[in-house]
Amino acid sequence: MIVTEPDTTRLLVLDDENDVAATICMMAATGGYRAEHVGDADLFLARVAISGPTHVMVDLQLADRDGIEVIHRLAKIGCTASVIVMSGLGGRILESAGRVATENGLRLIGTLAKPFPRADLLALLATGTPGEVSALAPSSAGSAGIPSEQRLREALRAQEFIAHFQPKVSCASGDLVGFECLARWPQPGGGMVGPDIFIQLAEATDVIHALTRQIYQYAFAHLPNGVREHGLKFALNLSQLNLTDESFPRWLLDICREHGVAPSQVILEMTETASMNNPLALLEHLTQFRIRGFHLSIDDFGVGYSSLVQLARLPFSELKIDQMFVKTLAVSAESQKIVTAVVGLGRSLGLKVVAEGVEDAWALDFLRDVGCDEAQGYYIARPMDALASSAWKPSVRRAGS
Ligand code: C2E
Ligand code: MG
Ligand code: MG
Repeated sequence: MIVTEPDTTRLLVLDDENDVAATICMMAATGGYRAEHVGDADLFLARVAISGPTHVMVDLQLADRDGIEVIHRLAKIGCTASVIVMSGLGGRILESAGRVATENGLRLIGTLAKPFPRADLLALLATGTPGEVSALAPSSAGSAGIPSEQRLREALRAQEFIAHFQPKVSCASGDLVGFECLARWPQPGGGMVGPDIFIQLAEATDVIHALTRQIYQYAFAHLPNGVREHGLKFALNLSQLNLTDESFPRWLLDICREHGVAPSQVILEMTETASMNNPLALLEHLTQFRIRGFHLSIDDFGVGYSSLVQLARLPFSELKIDQMFVKTLAVSAESQKIVTAVVGLGRSLGLKVVAEGVEDAWALDFLRDVGCDEAQGYYIARPMDALASSAWKPSVRRAGS
């Protein structure tokens, strides 16, 4: 198991051909790598998120998935390990898959056509600078898979779920405009499990309702400085399933009152999913939130199920451009065109446009130049605990402000 040691040479291989994967691990071990392999994509992703290997290898052909889907999900969970894509398929396919990894913002160190000699593998592994620890600290709990439903329920009863806060700034002035609240699950050894691991499981059960309330309760009880005092915005993520809980809007209104936050400061961020297949119900639920004064944001716009129809038809007040495009602004002309077009689209529909995944100064400058309203990302600040977020001050000032 590769969970606890903070060394820089932990390799996790995803390949459902057991013998091949075992051979790769043996070859890597001769170069001093602590290597292990899994054949199941979900287990692989859970281990990457929880134990934070320094290097990962992904085979493109898996029994139940293709490697591209895995690459997407690696990017989605914020994997910062060095990535090698491998396949027995032709060089062109490998090359395209490698491009997919890079354009998704992963740290690709190379591709390997199978079968490959040990020397090629070791040479490639050596070029990969150790991935910085993932956005979420690796869990030291030693758990190597997705938590069970029972464990989730126990954690809920013990009120283990908390929130971290990530600042959002104005692209024009650099001023702090608000925070996004992100769910976290602290582990006994000091690590932290991120929402990509447990929200999906909570959504697959009825746990999501109580979990959302617990996270929100924590967030309101730990409001970062400036939210109550200066009316800064406070963004919370909402699962579409929460919309089926009829008492939720009223509950949210009550908790806002209790903590002195106006509903107009609250932005509910929702990712479009296929789960809500009743468009009229969605329209009704969302309109109810707007009537109560809350703002609604369409999260991860540009990927997945979000569509222009939804954008025009539903009462969103904000659009968040998916980080896939924002992270790659400096290196991809396509991303630049997409972001420019989406900013124009959002503004013409009267929406506030927010970019997330701002990882460098170039991206922030570009966003300001194309008229994006707000920005969020590691370049500005990482998600922080309640104390740190309260003390946070923007360090990036824009010219003329
Ligand atoms: P999201 O709402 O799109 O949140 C942004 C995610 O990107 C967060 O990941 C954040 O830590 C990460 N991020 C922010 N800036 C950067 C950057 O510059 N680079 C990179 N690589 N990543 C960045 P996190 O915290 O793991 O959250 C993942 C997703 O889980 C969220 O995506 C959101 O959809 C969901 N989520 C988080 N909290 C909750 C919650 O309380 N309820 C529900 N239903 N979903 C939640
Ligand atoms: Mg969000
Ligand atoms: Mg997002």
